[in-house]
Amino acid sequence: MKEACGVVGIVAPGRDVSHLCYDALYALQHRGQESAGMATYNDHQITVVKDNGLVSHVFAETTLRALAGSLVIGHTRYSTSGSANWTAAQPVYRSAGTSGFAIAHNGNLTNTTALADAAGIQFTSMLSDSDLVAELLARQVETGTTLTEALLKVLTNVEGAFSMVILEAGEVHAIRDPFGFRPLCLGRLGPAGAPEGWMIASESPALDVVGATFIRELNPGEMVTITKDGMSSVQLLEPAGAKQKLCIFEFVYFARPDTYLMGHQVHTTRRRMGELLAAQSKIDADIVMGVPDSGIPAAEGYAKASGIPFGYGLVKNRYIGRTFISPDQDKRAASVRRKLNPLRENIEGQRLVVVDDSIVRGTTTRALVKMLRDAGASEVHLRISSPPFMWPCYYGIDTPTREDLLAANHSVEEMNEFIGSDSLEFITLENLRSAIALDGECCDACLTGRYPAPTPVVLGVAGRRW
Ligand code: SF4
Repeated sequence: MKEACGVVGIVAPGRDVSHLCYDALYALQHRGQESAGMATYNDHQITVVKDNGLVSHVFAETTLRALAGSLVIGHTRYSTSGSANWTAAQPVYRSAGTSGFAIAHNGNLTNTTALADAAGIQFTSMLSDSDLVAELLARQVETGTTLTEALLKVLTNVEGAFSMVILEAGEVHAIRDPFGFRPLCLGRLGPAGAPEGWMIASESPALDVVGATFIRELNPGEMVTITKDGMSSVQLLEPAGAKQKLCIFEFVYFARPDTYLMGHQVHTTRRRMGELLAAQSKIDADIVMGVPDSGIPAAEGYAKASGIPFGYGLVKNRYIGRTFISPDQDKRAASVRRKLNPLRENIEGQRLVVVDDSIVRGTTTRALVKMLRDAGASEVHLRISSPPFMWPCYYGIDTPTREDLLAANHSVEEMNEFIGSDSLEFITLENLRSAIALDGECCDACLTGRYPAPTPVVLGVAGRRW
């Protein structure tokens, strides 16, 4: 699985917002490494710079200096809709009305074909769902409506997941979809009594790195508008239900461990997942190790609850970029070797409990188990901190189709055999929910087939819309 995207929005009169945005995007680099971009407004015009590559590759110091202005939005992208080439990089800019606007989007829309058909637009693979929303907004603005009015009209008909930031002359808007699938939080720059500016970000560490204070997460369907005079909020779209549906995999895998989501620090929830996983069944082993990065806190929790010592068994190369992520299964196994290397002296002759966050196709996990055996492990017992991944995600996470999801087509025993582990156990859904300490407030459709929002395909008898 690959993360979706990260978004940032800042309005801070007198501050160097492009540099602030750079630091914030850098903190969100884990959410997307394909492309990065920024749009600034300097009282006269909107300037957009975007390109393929990591944040540090796209923005040189001279580029940041040229991005003048006190309003900015930014984006890091992993493509889940449309092409991965430059045209799909964000922010997406549209000239409309007296000026124009720029949009940066995290999520995936599920009714793009219907939206495009209704508007007479040809939705090709070169056009992402974010492009489509930009086009629909631009058409509204051309008729004389304000961008805020256009947002209400267009987004009322949009289905799926969207956490968006939008820049127009003098204003930055931030909107979260009625389910709240993707995270989005609000921060303040400067002291409480005399704020120097306001900020929006996908995850709270992006606020921390620029010295902003976390205020709160946006509510599902809420729109926050920031100008040089301050911040205001409206409930633009009706929430989809009494409880929001934040993606449960933000806790398991996607979000940074230092991120706060719904009042919980992600690292703490991952430790709890490991503790509850250990309590599910007892096993004799010599060492508990986590698969970096998100498996580490869960392994710490497992070790604490089981009494088996925690140890490091894998070293991760942190400099592997998108170049090495290949669609081909053999190449995927090879990419595991590039990314992870065993610590032989910690592993040799040891009975290992290996804690990982998920099993999707199973090929990566199989390569990992082989690597540990080749390094001398006498036993490899896999413990997974999410339940079996049975259904594709349509809300902004890049997952294979059902045919390629190992758990959708095999029993746990068959998976254990395919992977080559000595034993395999997944955390129960009940224990995962308990670790997060939230009840029914997360989407778990890929684990249960209960999709909160409409999906773009017919799911068959077992897949239901809730
Ligand atoms: S389907 Fe799974 S990955 Fe997608 S939003 Fe829901 S919980 Fe997250």
